[in-house]
Amino acid sequence: MTSVRLFADHEQVLICQDREAGLRAIVAVHDTTLGPGLGGIRMWTYPSDEAALTDVLRLSEGMTYKNSLAGLDLGGGKTVVVGDPRHDKTPEMFQALGRFIDRLGGSYLAAEDVGTTTQDAEQVATQTRFITGLPFDRGGSGDPSPMTAWGVFVGMRAALDEAGQDTGWDGVHVAIQGAGHVGGRLAGHLLDAGARVTVADIHADLLEPLAERGAEVAPPERVHTVECDVFSPCALGAVIRPDTIGQLRCRVIAGAANNQLADASMGDELQGRGVVYAPDFAINAGGVINIGEELQGDGYDPDRARLSVERIEETLREVFARARRDGIAPNRAAEQMARERIAAARAAAPAR
Ligand code: NAD
Repeated sequence: MTSVRLFADHEQVLICQDREAGLRAIVAVHDTTLGPGLGGIRMWTYPSDEAALTDVLRLSEGMTYKNSLAGLDLGGGKTVVVGDPRHDKTPEMFQALGRFIDRLGGSYLAAEDVGTTTQDAEQVATQTRFITGLPFDRGGSGDPSPMTAWGVFVGMRAALDEAGQDTGWDGVHVAIQGAGHVGGRLAGHLLDAGARVTVADIHADLLEPLAERGAEVAPPERVHTVECDVFSPCALGAVIRPDTIGQLRCRVIAGAANNQLADASMGDELQGRGVVYAPDFAINAGGVINIGEELQGDGYDPDRARLSVERIEETLREVFARARRDGIAPNRAAEQMARERIAAARAAAPAR
């Protein structure tokens, strides 16, 4: 009946319910070999409990690879909160979530994600210290999405280079799916750099300021079919599926969304079609690299964090080089690199 692979590789999965606070959530800790499982809290209107579980299991596993490939001493985890972030949120809900996170004793470190904000993180922080990305004035690194957007912007250069395209931005056309925290800022960087930008979002109010700056607007259901140099998924996952892959008209896919491929074989198919795919967990690591800076404990420095985020360009070049060397798709090369680091740490660790 169920397509969910329970007991796949996850260390711990916690179902959280607080009726009084109206909280229904799942926290998944995938792997803590390298350190506490860091990953954001996503709030979304899932069509079923199974869909929420599938999402949190996939996302937490992705966080393990993301944090490993980014060179962080952090494992992978994630939370999903079931509900509409525009209408269902209450402070009590996030306080209740904070109490559940606290019970995990530090094996999971929370952050923001789709549907949550620094204000929600502050509510979580009233109940636990295992939360990152608090506002600057509380010693945190703030909203991670500007650094995620910057990482995607610099990473896109490596992907364009891999596709044999001149790395100047003039005349480069990028179609962005999702103009939220990351996609909106990414559009801004691209417009500043002189690229041609097309944006789409299901919330039209987010598009107006970008259109005023010269971006073109596409309908959300068709943005992946826009003829462009780069298609940049910055909304939700599984955008590259058997039914969409043939509709793509781009040379590069480089965006912030987690789990862009419905499954790994989509990466092989993109490679076969000559599309350069920048693995999502490699290019969208700016937010976690920023949080890694916050966790260093010697005071968060945004300039240092920005330099660390810019390492994403080099990491992607290494991923593409390995993919070429081994004749495999970049998503497979990136996952191998991430797994190798975890395996090496496991081998070096004293037996438990
Ligand atoms: P967000 O919620 O601010 O933005 C997502 C946007 O996508 C929203 O404006 C939403 O209306 C839009 N959207 C949803 N479905 C759509 C559709 N079918 N077509 C077009 N637009 C649609 O979230 P965000 O923080 O910008 O994150 C975007 C993606 O990047 C997510 O997948 C997230 O997991 C991933 N990500 C974010 C960060 C971060 O630092 N925020 C870090 C890594 C990865």
